[in-house]
Amino acid sequence: MTFNGPIVRPQTDADSLFIEVTVGCTHNSCTFCNFYKGYPFSIAPLEQIEADLKEASRVHPHARKIWANGGNPYALSTDKLAAVAKLIKKYFPESRISTYARVDDLTRKSVDEMNCLRELGFIDLVVGFECGDDEVLKNVNKGYTVADILSGCKKLEEAGVDYRMIFLGGLAGKGRCVESAKKTAALLNQLHPYLLYLNSVSIMPGTKLHEDWEQGRFQEAGEGELVSELIALLEDMENEIAVFAAPNTTPFSFFVNLQSNKGKLLSYMRDFLKSLNDKEEQEASRNRHRKSKI
Ligand code: SF4
Repeated sequence: MTFNGPIVRPQTDADSLFIEVTVGCTHNSCTFCNFYKGYPFSIAPLEQIEADLKEASRVHPHARKIWANGGNPYALSTDKLAAVAKLIKKYFPESRISTYARVDDLTRKSVDEMNCLRELGFIDLVVGFECGDDEVLKNVNKGYTVADILSGCKKLEEAGVDYRMIFLGGLAGKGRCVESAKKTAALLNQLHPYLLYLNSVSIMPGTKLHEDWEQGRFQEAGEGELVSELIALLEDMENEIAVFAAPNTTPFSFFVNLQSNKGKLLSYMRDFLKSLNDKEEQEASRNRHRKSKI
């Protein structure tokens, strides 16, 4: 198997078969991200993809979940993605193909193109939208707006493509997280992803956000504010959706249907918040920063 870049996938896709489709991310300049530093964007040749699929089909002939690896393979042209999907289906006809998409990959494709790719196998996309607050999106240089998120995801819905979204808390900075979460909930209430990942940002050395933090241009929210942010988000969300929180980026660990568990979930989170004293808050912060490097 060939991997010229890191394997990055959601926590829930650890059991997938990973096939390198691209290396790096076309944007590669969000201020908080260091996933692909040193890995300029490139496209895996079809010959490499086919050789990997052939090898994988000998070892895991019954794989059903295929993760098309790369920062945002959905950026590729529809023709190229169609060729990739056909190869995957040649070796794994029963598979479900999942991959990352940036919001601007969605705005560039038409509903017809998305529909065609869905029929060929690209049926499940993961969109790291981060939040629904234009000021924050601009500050962290996401390269798109809330209106773009809305229109891109609506196109996916029209094309019948399943999608999940990744929320990244804390990006608004100290004192602004709850207000920002409410804007995110208002955006999500207009959309229908089937799963929302809850994460909180870690300030990673070597990133522009780290530089901003060191020079006082960005003030990090404490653990209590990050928990309040998640509570504000879930409180306002009306979606029939599953929510997933992993202990490496939040103090929580759950994977539940939001609406049928909302009361229990919010009371668990509020109790946690009440129990946080200064010492525990500092310890929780240290843990999150340490675990985010794993
Ligand atoms: S779009 Fe995603 S992978 Fe690319 S720089 Fe931003 S956070 Fe990193």
